[in-house]
Amino acid sequence: MSGSREIAIVGAGIGGLALAAFLARDGHRVRVFDQFPEAKPIGSGLMLQQTGLAVLEQLGLRAEIDALGTRIARLWGLTVPSLRPVLDVRYTKWQPDLYGLGVQRGLVFEQLLGAASKAGVEMVLDSAVASANPADPSIQLENGDHVAGMDLIVFAHGARSSLTPDDRGVDLPYGALWATLPWPENGSFDKSALEQRYRAAHQMTGVMPSGRLAKNAPETLTYFWSIRADQEANWRAASLDQWKQDAIALWPETEQLMAQFQSHDDLTFARYRHHTSRHPVVGRGLVRLGDAWHAASPQLGQGANMALLDAWALSQAMRAEPRVEDALRHYLRLRRYHVQLYQIMTWLFTPVYQGDSRVLPWLRDWLAAPLSKIWPAPTLLAAMVSGSLGAPLKRLGLR
Ligand SMILES: Cc1cc2nc3c(=O)[nH]c(=O)nc-3n(C[C@H](O)[C@H](O)[C@H](O)COP(=O)(O)OP(=O)(O)OC[C@H]3O[C@@H](n4cnc5c(N)ncnc54)[C@H](O)[C@@H]3O)c2cc1C
Repeated sequence: MSGSREIAIVGAGIGGLALAAFLARDGHRVRVFDQFPEAKPIGSGLMLQQTGLAVLEQLGLRAEIDALGTRIARLWGLTVPSLRPVLDVRYTKWQPDLYGLGVQRGLVFEQLLGAASKAGVEMVLDSAVASANPADPSIQLENGDHVAGMDLIVFAHGARSSLTPDDRGVDLPYGALWATLPWPENGSFDKSALEQRYRAAHQMTGVMPSGRLAKNAPETLTYFWSIRADQEANWRAASLDQWKQDAIALWPETEQLMAQFQSHDDLTFARYRHHTSRHPVVGRGLVRLGDAWHAASPQLGQGANMALLDAWALSQAMRAEPRVEDALRHYLRLRRYHVQLYQIMTWLFTPVYQGDSRVLPWLRDWLAAPLSKIWPAPTLLAAMVSGSLGAPLKRLGLR
């Protein structure tokens, strides 16, 4: 794309910050608007896949993040009470050097914020965006300010925002309680695996190694406990000790973690949402990216990685096409297929692990689990969790 453009990005999340850094490096004037008075990460641990890591590499951030995260070789889930394995995905079944990277969200966030600031991105905080005009690109802030004269507005506001008018999404019945805890030195958890335990699909808990925030910071894990959204209030009102007993009954080894929960507030609830925007591009100057385009439950651990791929794709499209409208069409061509594929797969997989059905977990345990051991299933499962199905990196010129 010739010349410098005026670009407003709504949302200082993973996708918004990565895009801001790429575009500012290419010489565009980039402003990032966020509703919060201070830029901060929301949530707990994250699993980065090779897709997201390839984009972080383009920003020069991969080596640092790789060094502080924990490499995960395997996703390993047992059904209770039989303790039969019903999830066993090994990354190396797809490629010998493949791994997932468990990280703290704050690490990725700080690195992206640093890259954006260094590239000259202007952060406009405490500035919730109320609406945007895609025809004559401009935005209206909730505080009454009007920001006009834009060439492009990017909605990177995540899964939950008032700025989702074409949303045909649904709040999923389940979400999870999350917490980051120090890695127990004498614990029985496997540092190279994301481990889960299930009772049918109505109870699920897991432990993900999530690395360090900084070189001298303590090593951590991310603990999660699946819970129906309509039960969150009851959980908060009930005794924490009663819940701890349920958690220990599902996975006795987590008893050593329970002592660290002194109050309900030590766990953060996140409700999951699934939506795919019908209009990722609107008019001649508005585009959606990351969860603002396609939100899903984190069951396959793809959302942050997809947001990073979107950011790279949009920056490449802006480089390739002289006109903004053409760049946006190019962006959709680069990303649409992969987005649709993973939205469908996540939609299908989520109720198998989180839901009230008795039939789906039964099929999972007695049909899918045995079949998943037979070639080519182990290879395909590894390709799926690494985000590689649909060859997104090849399409984007990444390795
Ligand atoms: C519990 C949980 C676990 C997850 N685990 C994983 C995982 O392991 N791997 C993975 O890849 N993904 C995971 N995800 C998904 C991942 O977090 C998201 O897909 C990713 O953060 C999306 O990035 P984003 O940039 O689109 O939006 P976000 O990171 O959500 O950022 C959106 C930003 O927009 C701002 N904003 C919203 N509305 C406005 C407004 N009107 N005006 C101004 N600013 C606004 C918000 O303040 C926020 O800063 C998980 C999600 C959850 C909830």
